[in-house]
Amino acid sequence: MRKILHADCDCFYAAVEMRDQPALREVPLAVGGSAERRGVVATCNYPARAFGVRSAMPTATARRLCPELVVLPPDFERYRAVSQQIQALFLELTPLIEPLSLDEAYLDVSEVARFHGSATWMAQWLKEQTLARTGITLSVGVAPSKFLAKIASDWDKPDGLTVIAPEDVDGFLRPLPVSKLHGVGPATTAKLEALGIHRCEDLRQRSLTTLLERFGKFGRHLYQLARGIDEREVNISRERKSVSVETTFDRDLPDLAACRQALPPLIDKLRKRLARHDDPPSDKRFVKVKFDDFSQTTMESAGYADDSRGFQHLLEQAWQRGARPVRLLGVGVRLVPEDAQRQLTLFDES
Ligand SMILES: [Mg+2]
Repeated sequence: MRKILHADCDCFYAAVEMRDQPALREVPLAVGGSAERRGVVATCNYPARAFGVRSAMPTATARRLCPELVVLPPDFERYRAVSQQIQALFLELTPLIEPLSLDEAYLDVSEVARFHGSATWMAQWLKEQTLARTGITLSVGVAPSKFLAKIASDWDKPDGLTVIAPEDVDGFLRPLPVSKLHGVGPATTAKLEALGIHRCEDLRQRSLTTLLERFGKFGRHLYQLARGIDEREVNISRERKSVSVETTFDRDLPDLAACRQALPPLIDKLRKRLARHDDPPSDKRFVKVKFDDFSQTTMESAGYADDSRGFQHLLEQAWQRGARPVRLLGVGVRLVPEDAQRQLTLFDES
């Protein structure tokens, strides 16, 4: 049985800012792009959340919800320095680390002998040491698999420590809303709920065949997660080179006009996904088109990630290459190598 930790700092960028300027602790604070430049919130503290401010929300909207909101531009150099301290701490425990972003990682501690092999103790130690060495609070989830560890770290945020022991997995999963499962976003949640599947226990009552029919390959994933099966290993060589979202349509989109209409929700989703990542987007975006004959093409160009017109333009060029019905559309951005990140103004649209 594996022991996986998922460690995740609480509102990381905002936490670094509050640490360095204690006066900011008591006020609603967001880190992100400015409202004037149509930026979005990357991270916000808990006082801001009390007003309904959220990550990926346009800063202008956040300001409407909370007029006294303090908005700071991100300072990646400082965040990266803290991140390195935390990664060094993780390394004291195990070399089996899969960083997901500046402030988030999976750790496989199955073979760690320290702390009598107690993953709960290890998690406790990580939390104490992170706070002592960096002044930042960490939430940690402990579980026998990655997806459960990730759910656990989010369970009692901020400053949380949630343990899902192997014998508790079943009881934990049964009442769990399907929206909490790895890879299940709002669209899949809606589709599941339309089928009367709200919780994992509902999901378990559907056969693998039914789920494969309804959800394609993803059906197997759903079938397994509902039973706590997630064999994905902590991948230490992982390198995130791009962030993208794509949709396979229930019915092929007949023409370019239909593709154009389908693009904005994808761009929205991409923007939200980017805001969850701490890697800033590069100035390279791309559009992927798969036609009904399964041929596919990708168009790529320079330009900021959340410029919708840029994506529309790429879509037109990509579509012309096949000029036939479309079964899948994707949008994404290439991420900048770490060294090149400094000059970017995150989430701003020029
Ligand atoms: Mg975090």
